[in-house]
Amino acid sequence: MFSKHVSSFTSAYYHDELPREQTQRVAEHLIHCLGCRTEFEEVRFGARLAAQLLPIAAPDSLWREIELALDRDVCKVPVRSSSRFIPFLSRPRFAFAAVALIGLVVAVAALLMNHTPTPADASWDVARMGGAPRIGSVLISDKAKLGVGQWLETDPNSRAQIKVSDIGQVEIDPNTRVRLLETKPTEHRLELERGRLSARISAPPKLFFVNTPSGVAEDLGCAYTLEVDDAGNSLLRVTTGWVALQLKDRESVVPAGAACATRPGIGPGTPYFEDAPASFRAALTKVDFETGTTDISQSVFALLGGARVRDTITLWHLLARVNGNDRVLVYERMAELVPPPQGVTREGVLALDQRMLDAWKDKLKFYWSDHSSPPMKFLKKEWTRSLGAFNGFEGKR
Ligand SMILES: [Zn+2]
Repeated sequence: MFSKHVSSFTSAYYHDELPREQTQRVAEHLIHCLGCRTEFEEVRFGARLAAQLLPIAAPDSLWREIELALDRDVCKVPVRSSSRFIPFLSRPRFAFAAVALIGLVVAVAALLMNHTPTPADASWDVARMGGAPRIGSVLISDKAKLGVGQWLETDPNSRAQIKVSDIGQVEIDPNTRVRLLETKPTEHRLELERGRLSARISAPPKLFFVNTPSGVAEDLGCAYTLEVDDAGNSLLRVTTGWVALQLKDRESVVPAGAACATRPGIGPGTPYFEDAPASFRAALTKVDFETGTTDISQSVFALLGGARVRDTITLWHLLARVNGNDRVLVYERMAELVPPPQGVTREGVLALDQRMLDAWKDKLKFYWSDHSSPPMKFLKKEWTRSLGAFNGFEGKR
């Protein structure tokens, strides 16, 4: 049930119409399934497009043609063109298509021109949690509003809390500088220039983003901390759910209990569980960020020796990031820890066949979850029940 595709739920999911547990499951599936994610992006694009639709009046002549055509259709009189100028409009389906097309052209034009500006009053509530945080140069006495484009800054003794629209909250630690870049129903975005924030978000994935100098954190219904040092390096630590870190075409998907570093110019490193052996983590830092100065093969070899079953999250991401014999060694260690499922071949994995990589990941994910804390059985039961109710399988509740 868990690995089933969720394409039939992406619309309800986007519009936040699913029960909470189901929302969580769809969110988790979306982060791992490229196919469903692509479909979700299409739904999102369509919804944004629909939101831009403006009612426009069709010319009277067009309506007359449509009415005439409809009358003829109802009377089942064979259709014959009555207009030399727009003959195709005498067929109702073409007339409707024409009206729909006009609407679509207007919508696309509006979207491309980004014609719906953020409302002038778009802002987030900020509460002072200690010390003297500032918005711009103004001290926050108790509560304040953070508008789009404004910076919120804390000194060594101050902290603040931001309410992220209606989807969650972010705590701002001392010595931190953040800016609100965007807030609208389809996207909420902060910039973290330096310091540390803790986010707790409850919403469909890909709604809340944090830009850092070396990557973008995309929320997937989760809680996490993100810190940026003065050099622009960042460290993401996930407490619940999943977070994706991205820079250009490099992406790391980080589950609860895991962390991931980023570096300017390189982007996200490889995710690792925070309880992984120190030697494993040290070798990973070299593989991720010291490619020019160390012997990568030696570091890969050291890392593989210390890898536990859970650390396959690191190895799975590494497959595409190392080459030649290093990739072969990563494959062999992974296969030793958790053999690939049926249909996933050594040749396919080494050639980075995405379908095979995803299939293996589906199997591995079981080992990446923390089975001791979340009530997985309960979640599964709820998920099954709500899916059944949704599909009408279980009848009335
Ligand atoms: Zn899917």
